[in-house]
Amino acid sequence: MASIPHIVILGGGFGGLSSAHELRNSFSSSQVKITIIDKKDWFMVGFAKLWIINGTRTFENSIGSLNELPKKEINFIKDEILAIDLQNKNVKTTSQNISYDFLIISMGSILAPEKIPGLKDNGFNLYDHNQLSKIHDKLMSMKSGKIAITIMGMPYKCPPAPFEASLLIDSMLKKRGVRNSIRIDFYSPSPITLPAAGTEVSKQIFDLVNSEKIIFHNSCKIKSVESNKLIFENTEADFDLLLFIPPHIAPKIIYDSGLAKEPGFILIDRDCKTPFENVFAIGDVTTMAVTETMAVPKAGIFAEGEGITVAKNIISKIQSKKELTLFDGKGGCFIESGKETASILEVDMFSQSKPLTNLSESTSDNLSKKIEFEKERMAKWL
Ligand SMILES: Cc1cc2nc3c(=O)[nH]c(=O)nc-3n(C[C@H](O)[C@H](O)[C@H](O)COP(=O)(O)OP(=O)(O)OC[C@H]3O[C@@H](n4cnc5c(N)ncnc54)[C@H](O)[C@@H]3O)c2cc1C
Repeated sequence: MASIPHIVILGGGFGGLSSAHELRNSFSSSQVKITIIDKKDWFMVGFAKLWIINGTRTFENSIGSLNELPKKEINFIKDEILAIDLQNKNVKTTSQNISYDFLIISMGSILAPEKIPGLKDNGFNLYDHNQLSKIHDKLMSMKSGKIAITIMGMPYKCPPAPFEASLLIDSMLKKRGVRNSIRIDFYSPSPITLPAAGTEVSKQIFDLVNSEKIIFHNSCKIKSVESNKLIFENTEADFDLLLFIPPHIAPKIIYDSGLAKEPGFILIDRDCKTPFENVFAIGDVTTMAVTETMAVPKAGIFAEGEGITVAKNIISKIQSKKELTLFDGKGGCFIESGKETASILEVDMFSQSKPLTNLSESTSDNLSKKIEFEKERMAKWL
């Protein structure tokens, strides 16, 4: 180990920023060096993407700058990470080699529309920040026809977000006075709306979208997409505007370094350790099993919690303590109704017998909490 430990964090998203913040709060810059590497120099809370789609936000006023990190005594390198050398404890970026004593991999998941034949050319990616204003414009000019909101594969990040998107789009179209002439179909490969939240919450989400005449079609596993046509394993459906959530995979270097097998993610336990000494993985780039058939969902709130868990475990190791912190699996996700209210989906993934979930009432107070959630993180982390 060098004179002071160097903690290198790959990815400046939810997980990376939360772990860096927690570590810097415990150690001064004379005790540990912390470096975040990210190919982009901004951070955005995922749900702000839906506000760009419905026109209440722009991209520019939804981002925080990672160039602010040095003010918090966290180094920031804006560069593409090309390789992780786990044997020599080194990370290669486009411009340099960076050695580490502790490594936190929080590189998120990669959106991979190219995995589905015809998808890229025939629809818009609801999760891609480059396509949000195009989606907004399409929704503002559409006068009639069919919108298909389609989940192209599991797992994907923030399981309730596509449902929230459908409600916000419904509300936009109502405000424009065109909703009665536009049909919204929602296609999912799952048998119920939110498998990770269980049957009861799934029924509540189904009722919520159904009450706004958004038609939920379950068990629709996509094969390919053609111009104006979705081809599922068992059926076909036509559309005028396709908004999709693409398959998610891990970044290529995760497969190249042997940390995961394509198309999966890094398997971790609740201590977020990888098999490599002092190498941790958190957030969307991981799979943390809850039961044999269920994993912790990909969500910012869980990436944040895992980031804090890893920070505590690194702090314990540096201080030569034996305590090991396990991720508690608790978190909450907001679901906006499109009527200036939101509900909160509370989750306790590791509660005694089975995951506990609860969907609260949709209130304006919860919508204020959602806005506060974003503000708090921007202020604290950047
Ligand atoms: C529309 C939408 C709504 C959402 N709503 C919610 C919500 O209400 N609540 C919630 O909890 N979550 C929500 N999420 C999910 C949340 O945004 C993600 O789960 C969260 O960002 C995951 O954090 P992470 O740190 O694992 O990855 P990310 O935040 O994705 O960060 C990964 C970082 O790694 C960087 N990176 C990757 N590869 C490289 C490379 N090779 N070189 C350099 N840098 C690299 C990326 O640029 C990125 O900044 C939503 C997501 C979307 C899209």
